[in-house]
Amino acid sequence: MSAPHENLHPETLAVAVGRPANEPDQPLNVPLVLASTYIAGGDLEYGRYGNPNWTAFEETLGALEGGRCLAFSSGQAATAAVLDLVPIGGRIVVPRHSYQGTLGQLTLGEGRGRFAVTKVDIADTGAVVAALDGAALLWIESPTNPALEVADIARLADAARSAGVLVVADNTFATPMLQKPLELGADIVLHSATKLISGHSDVIMGAVVTRDDALLAELTTRRSLHGAIPSPLEAYLALRGLRTLPLRLERAQQNAQELVRRFEGHGALTDIRYPGFGTILSVVLPDAATADAFVAATSLARHATSLGGVETTLERRRRWAGEAQTIPVGLVRISVGVEHVDDLHRDLGGALDAALRADVNGAADEPADQSIMKG
Ligand SMILES: *Cc1c(COP(=O)(O)O)cnc(C)c1O
Repeated sequence: MSAPHENLHPETLAVAVGRPANEPDQPLNVPLVLASTYIAGGDLEYGRYGNPNWTAFEETLGALEGGRCLAFSSGQAATAAVLDLVPIGGRIVVPRHSYQGTLGQLTLGEGRGRFAVTKVDIADTGAVVAALDGAALLWIESPTNPALEVADIARLADAARSAGVLVVADNTFATPMLQKPLELGADIVLHSATKLISGHSDVIMGAVVTRDDALLAELTTRRSLHGAIPSPLEAYLALRGLRTLPLRLERAQQNAQELVRRFEGHGALTDIRYPGFGTILSVVLPDAATADAFVAATSLARHATSLGGVETTLERRRRWAGEAQTIPVGLVRISVGVEHVDDLHRDLGGALDAALRADVNGAADEPADQSIMKG
């Protein structure tokens, strides 16, 4: 970012960066530019290479993460571009509880010998460091989705640098408001901008951010050639959402912390997973049927996948076949929104009470799943 934004707080950067020039008759926001091609001779040339709405979004997210940003058509497209940097036959170290789409891409690539994969407990720093020898890429996701394990990014990045291993950090859950992986030593930050960055459950988009010019060039080449580009409208909406990320995150995080406090010791729960920060928590019910009864009994909180919107959503993660088998079958991930916490507590608490009654009445006659997230 250029000098005028250097000493600003993140709350201000989110609002101030990515605007047209401060001159008479310039619009405050970069207008939606629907263009597949541009008059030749400039920087843009063609809509697969550039767009003013991407640029406005990228400048803003780049300023927040402290690097240069590239927008992609989805978090998964950004992931594919990063994985494509791994040399043929290279080894990737990855959290065993990564986002299931990340694990899915790794399984696909591993299956055809494109690369090798070593799964680790990303919270076990010693074990991750031990796995780095000879690896090409360390994939960090922290907190993990949906187990909510936290990685020591600074120590892992340090060890990876000594071992000559490239480090990418999926920062979707923490956002740059809570964690800045580039400052902690990561080479690339990756986002599903679909989630907290855009924040209103109406956009699918992804992004990478890096300080390394060579990596930026490699990733730009992949975006241009593979064509995994967002539409201008998505970039516009994502930037509109990003403007209020600091406010939304602050409120949703307070709500999440308060709900965790109020649900501690609830009879329907065998575990609550919450790293102490962020807007996502996972509650563990004894079995799938009780967890499904809980999800079905909420009304304000909607049963839907994805996360990070202003509205509270929840889902039992093992309903997806691609979810790691070490995630308990009764784990329900809750994406806490910005509603009033008392209303959320009444809705979710009432649904937990209903699930408890269903469980006590023997509605669930499957054996209880005691597997906590290990092994
Ligand atoms: C959703 C998600 C992704 C994938 O992003 P899409 O925008 O859905 O393609 C990657 N990582 C994490 C942590 C996610 O939650």
